[in-house]
Amino acid sequence: MNVADSERMAGLLKKIGYTLTEDADRADLILINTCCVRATAEDKVLGQIGRFKSLKRENPSLILGVAGCMAQKEGENLIKRAPHIDFVLGTGQSSEVARVVRSIELERKHFIDISNVSGQWKVESGQGSGSSSQCFPLRGGQVSTFVPIMYGCNNFCTYCIVPYVRGRERSRKPEEIFDEVKQAVAEGFKEITLLGQNVNSYSGGMTFAELLTAVDKIDGVERLRFMTSHPKDLSDELITAIAGGKNICEHIHLPVQYGSDKILKRMNRVYTVEKYLKLVEKIRKAIPDVSLTTDLIVGFPGETEQDFLETLDFLRAVKFDAAFTFIYSKRSGTPAATFDNQIDDETKHRRLEELMKVQNAISLEKNLALVDLVVEVLVEGASKTDDKIFTGRTRSNKLILFEHGNEQAGELVNVKISQAQTWLLKGNVIK
Ligand code: SAH
Ligand code: SF4
Repeated sequence: MNVADSERMAGLLKKIGYTLTEDADRADLILINTCCVRATAEDKVLGQIGRFKSLKRENPSLILGVAGCMAQKEGENLIKRAPHIDFVLGTGQSSEVARVVRSIELERKHFIDISNVSGQWKVESGQGSGSSSQCFPLRGGQVSTFVPIMYGCNNFCTYCIVPYVRGRERSRKPEEIFDEVKQAVAEGFKEITLLGQNVNSYSGGMTFAELLTAVDKIDGVERLRFMTSHPKDLSDELITAIAGGKNICEHIHLPVQYGSDKILKRMNRVYTVEKYLKLVEKIRKAIPDVSLTTDLIVGFPGETEQDFLETLDFLRAVKFDAAFTFIYSKRSGTPAATFDNQIDDETKHRRLEELMKVQNAISLEKNLALVDLVVEVLVEGASKTDDKIFTGRTRSNKLILFEHGNEQAGELVNVKISQAQTWLLKGNVIK
């Protein structure tokens, strides 16, 4: 979501004459778009803000801004702590970035706006698309891109800061989404990922399954993905839409967060382990080649060794293709921050390691089962370390490396898998 927002802000700044640079030393404007979902993300931002202080000293005309979730949460505290920041822009004000930068160019004074947390991305008049509500993101990459379909969240999982810093859930209109997808396709993107904190509660005038099916019909969308699905809302209609889709990839990211009912309840996830397992069974029956990935949090307050062992058993039972595992991070202002029985760091780290060990073995086992199969791969381009090797993604969203002939980024090729590791596959192109 932050990547998508950054691209939108970059698009707005381009309109007032800024271009992107990889070189912070030469920048006229540095905008840090922040995340505060875990403390580590915030710590990184504070480190960056500190590092940019010397740049500001060398180049007093440099403008330094902080946007996004941490800006929303911390507001003027950021400027109190680091007065070399010029502006702080909350999540509901991202679309104002160009106006704010312009005013700072004209007059140097601190600017803070964290109002309107549930505000929409305000929009420009359409450039010939006929839409009254488009903005023009400066998209990174060249093959795959994000299109937000909704903002905010209403779920209030007890550990999570997102509803507080991103505001209540609001959905974009289907026409606006279709226009943006067409625009991305016209720019050459082949793969679209529809984004929302909980796409299954999309309420822009059609169901999410209908929206997905409609985007699937747009010419030039060669692959279609979506993120994220809350297990409580994943409908039969969506499963049918994926199973019967044209270019909808057979991959569902379905964060479970934990594998014991007691902790799920304390997290306010409103499903049980049994319900989740039944959902997985239903999905796998309808979409046999589906790849399932998940998010898990260890060290949630009140987690006992018994809860943790249940989670390991749960992982062994589901056999996810991959899991993103996080140590619980206390976010002040969320209910779980005040829960008793916070877990000590040593236990959290030990449990994370054990969890990863179990899941890594499963991921490897799943990948090894793919060896010798031929899969469709969307070519992304040369690998960062070896330009004879190309990287791409399977429909199941697995990273694959292969020796390239004259394939081009954005091309769909068939690759025979020759080797499997925990996080990646290797193979050869089949002509
Ligand atoms: N809306 C998405 C998740 C957005 S946050 C969903 O519900 O699936 C991405 C992931 O960060 C979450 O799935 C969760 O696993 C993790 N996360 C959120 N808050 C956290 C916290 N306080 N500590 C550790 N991990 C957290
Ligand atoms: Fe956070 Fe839960 Fe909303 Fe996801 S569904 S963003 S975890 S509150």
